[in-house]
Amino acid sequence: PAAQVPPYLETLNPEQQEAVLHSGSPLLILAGAGSGKTRVITTKIAYLIRDRGMDPRSILAVTFTNKAAREMADRARIIEPRAGDAMLRTFHSFGAWFLRRNGSVLGLNPSFVIYDDDDTVSLLATLMGDSSRAEVKHTAHLIARAKDYFLNPDDPELDIIEHRSSFRKTYARYEERMLQIGNVDFGDLIKKPVEALRVSPELAQRFRDRFRVILVDEYQDSNVAQFELLKALCGPETYVCVVGDDDQSIYRFRGAEVRNILEFPDRFPGTEIVRLERNYRSTAPILDLASSVVDHNEGRLGKKLRSERGPGKTPTLAFLPDQDSEVAFCAELIGQSVSGKTSRYSDWAVLYRTNAQSLGFETEFLRRRIPYRVVGSLKFYEREEVKDALALLSFLVNPRDEVAFRRVVNKPARGVGAATVDRIVLEASAGMFAGDGGLGLSQDGLEGDLAAASRRVLSSLSAKAKAGLETFLSAVEGARTLLSGDGPGGEDDGGGSASDPESPKTKSKKGGKKKEAAPDLRGGVGLSACVVRLVQDAGIAEYHLAHDEIAGNQRIANLQELANAASLYPAGEEGLLEFLEHVELDRSMEQDEGVDDAVTLITLHNTKGLEFPRVIMTGLEQGVFPRDDKKGDDLEEERRLFYVGATRAMDELYITSCAQRRLFGRTQPTQPSLFLHEITPDAVRIIGSCPYGFTPTEQPPADRSSGMVPNRSGPINGQAKRSSDGRWQVGDRVFHDDYGYGAVTNIREGDDGPVIQVGFETGREVRFLSEFQSSRFM
Ligand code: ATP
Ligand code: MG
Repeated sequence: PAAQVPPYLETLNPEQQEAVLHSGSPLLILAGAGSGKTRVITTKIAYLIRDRGMDPRSILAVTFTNKAAREMADRARIIEPRAGDAMLRTFHSFGAWFLRRNGSVLGLNPSFVIYDDDDTVSLLATLMGDSSRAEVKHTAHLIARAKDYFLNPDDPELDIIEHRSSFRKTYARYEERMLQIGNVDFGDLIKKPVEALRVSPELAQRFRDRFRVILVDEYQDSNVAQFELLKALCGPETYVCVVGDDDQSIYRFRGAEVRNILEFPDRFPGTEIVRLERNYRSTAPILDLASSVVDHNEGRLGKKLRSERGPGKTPTLAFLPDQDSEVAFCAELIGQSVSGKTSRYSDWAVLYRTNAQSLGFETEFLRRRIPYRVVGSLKFYEREEVKDALALLSFLVNPRDEVAFRRVVNKPARGVGAATVDRIVLEASAGMFAGDGGLGLSQDGLEGDLAAASRRVLSSLSAKAKAGLETFLSAVEGARTLLSGDGPGGEDDGGGSASDPESPKTKSKKGGKKKEAAPDLRGGVGLSACVVRLVQDAGIAEYHLAHDEIAGNQRIANLQELANAASLYPAGEEGLLEFLEHVELDRSMEQDEGVDDAVTLITLHNTKGLEFPRVIMTGLEQGVFPRDDKKGDDLEEERRLFYVGATRAMDELYITSCAQRRLFGRTQPTQPSLFLHEITPDAVRIIGSCPYGFTPTEQPPADRSSGMVPNRSGPINGQAKRSSDGRWQVGDRVFHDDYGYGAVTNIREGDDGPVIQVGFETGREVRFLSEFQSSRFM
C-alpha cells in the first residue's frame, strides 16, 4: 500500500513520485523529452521545503537558461511560496554570484566585469600582433574550449584542444593579461569557482554547509568544468540529483560531455537511477515522428517513451519552392489559425537552425502585423551604440578594463591616437609593478588603473589629445560621482539634472559644433540617470546621432532603451554591477517582456526544455539542417537537435523544406534534409511537391508555373470528401499565387490522378491536378 502523500504529489505518476520522495544516495533521472523531469525538480524543491522542513536557502538548483530558472522558480512557488528563496540559477550565473563574493581567494577584485566573446577577441587581438582576425577568433574559440574542459595552459591534456605550442603561449599570456585587468570571461565563471573551492578548504566547507541539496536540470549538456564544479560543491552529506536525456544532448560543440550523464553512476558511487517513460507533452503522432528520426542514431541508450496524450493530428510536411514561400506559408498558417480563433499567436513557435534565419520571418511578420518575439537573439546588445554604452559602464566599474577603455576613449574622435592609448596601457601596467611606492597607484589604490594612468600622462600630450582625454576622464568622473551619490542627481533625484539634456555637458573643445543636436535622452529613477549622464558626457549619444543621419534616431532610441532597462536597478555601484551582470548573462530578457500574445521565433538550440502547442520547424534542407555536411558524431548531434525541436510540440507540428534558398547572397538549389528521409512516410501529411520518392510523383500535365497550397489544414465543414492521394478534401481553403484565396469545391478521380476543383474568392472556378505542385508556390 502506498504511503500517504501530500495532494500536490498525487498528480504525479509513481516513478515521478519516487523521484520526488527519494533521499540519501545520489539520484540520476534519465528520461526522454516531456516526461516530467523538470516537473520532478520543481516539485522536489517545494516538497523539501514544505514537507521536509528544509531551509530554502540550502537548496541550489541549476538549469540551462535564465528563462528556465525563472520558470522553475515560478512553478515551485505555486506549490510552496518559500521556494522563491532557493537558489535557482544557471551554472554561469551561479559562478558569477560565487566569484563576486569569494573571488578574493584567487586575488580577484569583486568588481570584475564579465567579458563576452567579442571582448575576448579584442583583448586577444592586442596580444596576437599581426594575426588575422580569423586566427584571433579561432584562438578565442580554442581558449573557451580549453576552459570548458578545465584545462590550464600548462596542462598536458591541452593537446586534445590544440597541439601547437604557440597556442599554449597565447593562452598563457591571455590568462596573465586577464588577471592584470581583473576581469573574467564566460569560461572563468565556471573554472574559477572550482579553483577557489580547491585552494580554500574553508570556503569549500562553508559552501557544503550552506547547500545541502543540489539539483541539476538538462545535465546531458553540462561540460567537464561544470562537472568539476558540481564535484567541488558536493561533500559527503550533500544530496545531489541530476536529470537529463542523452537524446537531447546538443551542446557538444560547446564542450558539453554526454559522458557526464552516462558516467554519472561511476563518478557518484551509490547512484540510484529513476526512469520516466510517459510523455505528457505531445500527442502520439508527434512523438512517433520525433522517435523515428532519433532512432537512426547509434550512440544512444535507447529509452521507452509513450504518449500519455494519445492520438492527435498527423504532422504536416510542406515542400516549398523557396524561403519567401516558406515565410509566407508560416505567416499564412498562423494568421489563418488565429483569425479562425483556433489558436492564439503565443501558441505558435517558429524554429530554425541559425539565428540569421529569423530575419525573413521578422520582415514578413512585421508586414502582416503578426506580433512576434525573437528569443535568445543577441541583437539588441550587439548593436554598436549599446556596446559602446556598456563599455563606458564597464570602464566605470573597472578602470583596469583595457578592452572597454580602448573601445571608447577615442570615440567620438578626440585626438587620442592609438600610440597614446598604448602609452597609457603601458603606463598603467608599469604602475602595477611599481609596487606600493605611490607612483603606480591611483587615488583609490587600484593597480593598473587606466584612468589614473591617463591622468599621469596628460601633461606630456599634445594640446588636442590632452583636451580630448580630459573630456573622457571628466565624463567618467562625473558619472562616478553620481554613482557614489555625492554629486547632484543622486539616487533620489528621480530624473533630475543629470537626465536633463540641458545639463552642463562637457562640450567638445572645439566649441559649438554646427549641429546642436543634443540627443534627448531621459534618465529617471535608479541607475538610468547615471547611464544617460555617461553616454551624453562622453559624447557617445551625439556621436551616433551625427554618425548616421538615417539610423541615428534609432540608435538614440536604443540607448534610451538601455537606460530604461537600467532604471530597474538601484543607483550606485552595486546596482551597476548587477545590471552589467544581467546584461551579460541574460541577453534575451528584453525580448521576453512586453508583448503578451506573440509568436515565438527561436533557434532550435534555444528551445531546450520549452513547450508550445504548435510548432513549425523550418529549413529542413541539407546544409541548413543538418548544417553543413555533417558526418558521424556531428550528424548524430544534429539529429538530436531535430528530436529536441519536434518534441517541443504539444498538439501540432509542421515541418518545412525549400527547393532553393539564398545562401551567401546567392540563390542555390537545395536538397531535402536527410532527416526527412528518415521519417516514416505515413507519419506525415505532405503538402507541395515532394522532390523524392515519398509519394508517387508522376509528372502532372497541368500548367506547372502555377501552384497552390491548402492554407488551412483540415476541412471547414464536417465530413468531407477526400482525394485518393489524401492531400485534399472538399472544404480545404487554399491560396494560389495567381488566383488568390479559395476553397476546394469538388474532387474527382481523373486519368492522371485526382482533379481538384477550386472556387476562388474572385468567383472563378479552376480545376487542378492534385499533383500540380509548382516552383512558384505562393
Ligand atoms: P524536456 O526533456 O523537454 O525538458 P521534461 O522531461 O523536463 O521535458 P516537463 O517539462 O517537466 O518534461 O513536462 C512536460 C509537460 O508534461 C509539462 O507540461 C508538465 O506539466 C506535464 N507533466 C509532467 N508530468 C505530468 C503528470 N504526471 N501529469 C500531467 N502532466 C504532467
Ligand atoms: Mg525539462
